[in-house]
Amino acid sequence: MTTPYKHEPFTDFSVKENQQAFEKALKTVNKEWLGKEYPLVINGERIVTDEKIVSYNPAKKDEVIGTVSKATKELAEKAIESAATAFETWRYTTPEERANILFRAAAIVRRQKHEFSALLVKEAGKPWKEADGDTAEAIDFMEYYARQMIELANGKPITSREGEYNQYIYTPTGVTVSIPPWNFLFAIMAGITVAPLVTGNTVVLKPASATPVIAARFVEVLEEAGVPNGVINFVPGSGSEVGDTLVDHPKTSIITFTGSREVGTRIFERASVVHPGQQHLKQVIAEMGGKDTVVVDKDGDVELAAQSIFSSAFGFAGQKCSAGSRAVVHEDLYDDVLKRVIEITEEQTTGNPEKHTTYMGPVIDAASYEKIMGYIDIGKEEGRLVSGGTGDDSKGFFIKPTIFADLDPEARIMQEEIFGPVLAFSKVSSFDEALQVANNTEYGLTGAVITNNRAHIERAKQEFHVGNLYFNRNCTGAIVGYHPFGGFKMSGTDSKAGGPDYLTLHMNAKTVSETY
Ligand code: NAD
Repeated sequence: MTTPYKHEPFTDFSVKENQQAFEKALKTVNKEWLGKEYPLVINGERIVTDEKIVSYNPAKKDEVIGTVSKATKELAEKAIESAATAFETWRYTTPEERANILFRAAAIVRRQKHEFSALLVKEAGKPWKEADGDTAEAIDFMEYYARQMIELANGKPITSREGEYNQYIYTPTGVTVSIPPWNFLFAIMAGITVAPLVTGNTVVLKPASATPVIAARFVEVLEEAGVPNGVINFVPGSGSEVGDTLVDHPKTSIITFTGSREVGTRIFERASVVHPGQQHLKQVIAEMGGKDTVVVDKDGDVELAAQSIFSSAFGFAGQKCSAGSRAVVHEDLYDDVLKRVIEITEEQTTGNPEKHTTYMGPVIDAASYEKIMGYIDIGKEEGRLVSGGTGDDSKGFFIKPTIFADLDPEARIMQEEIFGPVLAFSKVSSFDEALQVANNTEYGLTGAVITNNRAHIERAKQEFHVGNLYFNRNCTGAIVGYHPFGGFKMSGTDSKAGGPDYLTLHMNAKTVSETY
């Protein structure tokens, strides 16, 4: 019997020993982990290519985190073939065997938890707390899905009748292509890799090009934990070349993707095409963007509202699909909440994420920096700039946390996903209007309502159309097993990572009826 699932605790960095341990991990990573080269892994074989993807530290543009070989179309096809061959044996392993591999992988990561988090600080510019949360979530996915698979080993109960024994069991689906984003570079990458593995599928992992090193290291962890050759394959490469090849391949059965709406809809469309030799319809799990709102009701608590808006908007520099980039506030509290959010924001330190006092580090790369600064220019036209608004990309990609007030709900910065530290405030005069504005985007991922009105809470449960709705707290920070995560509308297929239904999405349900 395994112990019941419990989420991995977060590290309290106000404790001196924890600070020292993390400093030490940063030193270890600086000295021993940085600058290495990582090959492709296909059927256990290490393949070094001439073309490379170089991962840089977004806080120190010229610091190389590591270099990975870059797959071609042919190598991507080879990886799918390798996964297809390995599937014929892996599919018949027992759920317990596969779950045990995940438990071992979680233990390996846990033993080097701070080193892994320190790598996230370096590769994505995450402040300590955010990096620690990302690693904890990766561990949680392994622990949670392993237990869930054991529970699903005998399928789900159905009815039998006299002379007939009926079973409803789950069988693996096939080759899975896992395509993660760079923002939860450990957690999401690990989650969308181990869920197909533990359900008996084989995986071709194409990491995000901005953060391939953590993925390369995780593949090593999986191998150390006992994942056989061909069951996990690692093929970094360009989205358009390698990504399209993997998605289009007739032997691909599942595509599990987390990333932008643009790429997600492209994959959804391409996956619907049946290619010669293909004997199944492809399954797409797509988790896409968000434009998430914190609503503050007339009788909400001002301090709670301000803290919730602040942390929703600026955690990891707003680079979360769940980021609360819109504050929709009742007119009675609007000025007070806005003033307090500005104060809290301006008290925070932004800059080098390697310092434990830093609240917010850089954005991921030059393209993101340009895009976000472009939105800040748009915001200056559309609203009133009340804090931040400047950037400095001389050493890393740093943008001050930026707040705009008095936005029209239809303004571009109220509608489009910016994916950076830009927060827009809009004033409303009733709860009806607040809900109407909260629902006025094409996305439906997360939201929060700050209110003490029970009737409004019940209404929001029905009428605020998002996959993850929170009351009297921030709209980010979902925890595996506690807050199954995923959105609908153009935010995705609502596949609820870290939830009770997630693993079954990776399997074929089979009804077996024996007559005796
Ligand atoms: P992205 O869409 O640019 O890239 C995601 C992945 O897709 C990367 O690995 C990329 O290389 C790959 N890719 C690009 N083109 C491809 C193609 N043609 N075929 C196959 N793969 C291709 O997204 P990003 O910038 O890495 O991540 C940010 C986005 O992710 C934001 O929109 C954010 O909201 C979203 N996101 C959503 C969730 C969620 O759970 N809903 C979680 C995290 C991030």
